[in-house]
Amino acid sequence: MKSENKEMLRIGCHLSFARGYLAMGKTARQIGATTFQFFTRNPRGGSAKAIDPEDIRAFLDFCEENDIKQMLAHAPYTLNGCSGTPRVREFARETMKDDLERLEYTPGLCYNFHPGSHVGQGTDSGIEYIADMLNTVMWQEQSAIVLLETMAGKGSEIGGCFEELRAILDRVHFPEKMGVCMDTCHVWDSGYDIVNNLDNVLNRFDQIIGIEKLRAIHLNDSMNPLGAGKDRHARIGEGHIGYEALCRVVCHPLLRKLPFYLETPNELDGYAREIHMMREAWEKTR
Ligand code: FE
Ligand code: FE
Ligand code: ZN
Repeated sequence: MKSENKEMLRIGCHLSFARGYLAMGKTARQIGATTFQFFTRNPRGGSAKAIDPEDIRAFLDFCEENDIKQMLAHAPYTLNGCSGTPRVREFARETMKDDLERLEYTPGLCYNFHPGSHVGQGTDSGIEYIADMLNTVMWQEQSAIVLLETMAGKGSEIGGCFEELRAILDRVHFPEKMGVCMDTCHVWDSGYDIVNNLDNVLNRFDQIIGIEKLRAIHLNDSMNPLGAGKDRHARIGEGHIGYEALCRVVCHPLLRKLPFYLETPNELDGYAREIHMMREAWEKTR
């Protein structure tokens, strides 16, 4: 077992939930990951797998023994709590409520979701709907911290700027149960220059939201230039952000202790390679 005070980069990637919790833990170890992200259910929605207490117990033991922690559950990306259609909003509520209840079985995880797209009725009412959903489904003693993901701002997406995330946080009943997950591809695509002005971007984040709210980073390169508003992830070093800039993100004094999750277009061997690359860079700046 690793010693408690040996600091290391907490990094992993998105893994498939198809074979259950323990299988994800084992895959993580195989590829050198010390955390990972997974979809709570089919990313397009639908019902979640039944909870298997034995799988969960084995998983929790395995993670404890292998120092795998700070996993991130990701809501289905079709979940849209600020849709103009009541039925779609209702589905989002039901899904999120069910996800949060299931997360009680694996304490200590965060739950990330895309704020949603207002599709026409305007940013302000979209923000009200999202806050309203959170206030309906969250409860004071819940174990999961709910994270708003920074978005590329394509179409009518909410969360393409820090101000919109702040507006949601200002309206929730349990702000201490909430945080933000910054996606490097998304912020870049929405116009935050993390390549040339990382410090400025983090300063703005701190002024508008508060840096203590930043709980996780999605580490992705981007297929598109700054401000493209597109949201297409690239492998590390194969996009417009580039390896060097992503190393500066991972090694930044304000960020280096956060958990990082790769969502790059890769198979497991590609993830293993990227994890290794980032770990090397991080170790050099210790
Ligand atoms: Fe996401
Ligand atoms: Fe993401
Ligand atoms: Zn994305």
